Amino acid sequence: MRQIALLGATGSIGTSCLDVVRAHPDRLRLQAVSAHRDWKKLAEICHEFQPEIAILSEESIRSEVDESSFPAGTQVQYGAEALEQTAGGSDNDTVVAAIVGAAGLISSLAAARAGKRIALANKETLVVAGGLIMQAAAESGCELIPVDSEHSAIFQALQSGRANEVRKIILTSSGGPFRGKTAAEIENAGPDLALKHPTWSMGPKITIDSATMMNKALEIIEARWLFNLQADQIGVVVHPQSIVHSLVEFMDGSQIAQLSPPDMRLPIQYALSYPERWEAVTESCDYQKPLRLDFFPPDLETFPALGLGFEVARRGGTTGAVLNAANEIAVSRYLRREISFYDMTGVCRELLEKHTYHPAPSLEELTALDQWARKETNLWQP
Ligand code: NAD
Ligand code: MG
Repeated sequence: MRQIALLGATGSIGTSCLDVVRAHPDRLRLQAVSAHRDWKKLAEICHEFQPEIAILSEESIRSEVDESSFPAGTQVQYGAEALEQTAGGSDNDTVVAAIVGAAGLISSLAAARAGKRIALANKETLVVAGGLIMQAAAESGCELIPVDSEHSAIFQALQSGRANEVRKIILTSSGGPFRGKTAAEIENAGPDLALKHPTWSMGPKITIDSATMMNKALEIIEARWLFNLQADQIGVVVHPQSIVHSLVEFMDGSQIAQLSPPDMRLPIQYALSYPERWEAVTESCDYQKPLRLDFFPPDLETFPALGLGFEVARRGGTTGAVLNAANEIAVSRYLRREISFYDMTGVCRELLEKHTYHPAPSLEELTALDQWARKETNLWQP
């Protein structure tokens, strides 16, 4: 029985993970769950799954919470420290990292240091501090299994060869809601259009990241750390159907891919079942109906975020923390209609150029830079 701490239980990944737990009650048990503010939804989850611990990471809502709405066997805790303690504590063996943004870093790092299985959806953790996380995981024996669909596909495809036989990996991208458009057509696009993703239903931050293709940039950086690759071993191809979730090319030229309809419950389940495979909760591709798969080269001019992804994967050091923090604030300002579509990538580029680069920063240095980049982006004017 896997004892799971599901951090970010009320989000899009969290909700899909609950479905997977529901389908495998003999194998998976929720020991702890967290949400940032939505205590009513968290209380509902607790009534169904009866975890020992429920964490509300936004300390300041304590006074609003009606603790009697939680079941008697669930202890309610508050604040980011509670997240860190549960992620690093010994009452669970698996942490599903489904918090959005750099807010997930400290709990992911605690789980990595404690040598747990981490089912990692929170890609920002690796973008900000990939070097520190991978080192902690290597020292503790932590199994870091990707949940991001592309990285799960690569993780699965890698099993058909040896590490020294890999030539490159190819990340697929749906292209988002603005695929095929020109810069002139999207420069004035507001959040209402950018939030309409053609193939995936996800939280708002990653949906905006998909429109700018910053999501793919973050995934290039995520892949660089997870699979220990050079930036020039990572390629991107636009694949609008989101069926081929990514490919690995081996030295003999064979490309091995993973295919399934777009549904995050499959990669979440695999991150929990690995090295086993369990009965599906999801559909598989059915070739009794026509199925068309298209592939196009990415448009680096219309989507300049991609170039930033390759640059950060190449330079490493402090660049990931700066890119991520600037982007998180830029996305929230774009959602509030304070800045325009291309301002999001523009401010990221500016801060990458402006910041004081270090090749091997400590956690404290990364945290300080994260704060600096957030402040600069909040003050930034187009
Ligand atoms: P979401 O916005 O739907 O959910 C985020 C969760 O994190 C919620 O439970 C929320 O309460 C919690 N949270 C928000 N701010 C927090 C904070 N400051 N501290 C602690 N908890 C906080 O997001 P999502 O779409 O589920 O994405 C979660 C992560 O998974 C992201 O890193 C995203 O890039 C990654 N991911 C998501 C998908 C997807 O299909 N949604 C696919 C691949 C990767
Ligand atoms: Mg992805």
